[in-house]
Amino acid sequence: MEGYAEIKEKGKNEKSTGAVNVNANIDALNRKLQDRIKELELLVQISYVLNNAYEWSDFVESVRHFFLAHFNIDGFALLLKTEAKNVFRILSSVGKDALREKTAPIDLNNLYVQKLILKKEIIYITGNEEKSNIPSVLNGQCSSILAIPAISRSSRILGVVCLKRLEKQAFSAQEIETIRQIVTQIAVMLDKAIIYKKARELAFTDELTGIFNRRYFNQRYSRELGRAKRYKRTLSILMIDIDHFKRFNDTMGHLVGDDVLRKMARVFESNLRKADILCRYGGEEFVVILPEISLKQALHVGEKLRKTTESSQFIGEKKAGKEITISVGVASYSGNNSYLEEILSKADKALYEAKQKGRNRVVAGK
Ligand code: GH3
Ligand code: MG
Ligand code: MG
Repeated sequence: MEGYAEIKEKGKNEKSTGAVNVNANIDALNRKLQDRIKELELLVQISYVLNNAYEWSDFVESVRHFFLAHFNIDGFALLLKTEAKNVFRILSSVGKDALREKTAPIDLNNLYVQKLILKKEIIYITGNEEKSNIPSVLNGQCSSILAIPAISRSSRILGVVCLKRLEKQAFSAQEIETIRQIVTQIAVMLDKAIIYKKARELAFTDELTGIFNRRYFNQRYSRELGRAKRYKRTLSILMIDIDHFKRFNDTMGHLVGDDVLRKMARVFESNLRKADILCRYGGEEFVVILPEISLKQALHVGEKLRKTTESSQFIGEKKAGKEITISVGVASYSGNNSYLEEILSKADKALYEAKQKGRNRVVAGK
């Protein structure tokens, strides 16, 4: 079979008008085919990229990188529709008009937003429109704004991919179609990534208190141990156990006991920093991983939790003898001793010692 190159070459030598037309048609067909090949290449590439993004953060990063690498854009944003009805979560926003906030309001009175969210249609702002009508989340220095809804198989809107260029009318119809197809692929993977993320969160969450569970602790603990060892960093552990909780349950009932556990998780959370990792270790036992915290500082944290617990009101009214107290065992790795793996059992032994010494106290492991 003759290839297009040969036909084209032949056409060049023809002198008649008919031949020139044939030549022009072939050129146009050639261009179309080239565009189609590029489009298919991009679709293959995005599905490859997304299939290799296992973690949520990899997924977001891959999508961002893909658009920046293959489209000559001045701004990019990936917005997630959250369960909270009227806000987008900004997963990524870079380039011109980058959004610094974590969330952006969804103004359903705005006609563009209605088109995007309610009708689930693409918005293409070419730069000739009235600026004041453009929703704030899309508005900025860029003239051309393309916002494509990512729609799940069950027709739910999952998020929005937003591409921008500084010049007016900068996206061609062909390009918009290619981007639409890419976003369809992204939506399939986003749907899966959201389900996977939720399943992962559930698998690592303690049902009663909502904090991390033992499974998460085990995984995170070994990761933090590895990090502390590799970089010779400090790491501390608090083992916490409620005092005489069996007695409390026996007199107040298990449901009240459950409520105490829930409230205690909140008390601990509000007394820890964001970098501290609070987990429910077992029944009435909690464990806190304190990265970059020395023994002295960890004892201070333990003492703060003990004091706050002692003075907190866990049941409706404070009845004499119904105060809840905790005992805390503390152990640390200082970055240069060789007993890193032992800090958990050290903290556990220290906790036992705290119980032996009369409870409601914080003891450092030796
Ligand atoms: P100690 O001061 O020595 O720690 O005494 P304790 O009674 O707290 O210790 P023990 O290990 O004998 O009992 C732990 C109790 O914690 C047993 C159980 O009644 C209670 N507990 C464990 N898990 C739960 C839970 O999920 N909900 C409730 N309500 N109680 C729990
Ligand atoms: Mg216990
Ligand atoms: Mg106990």
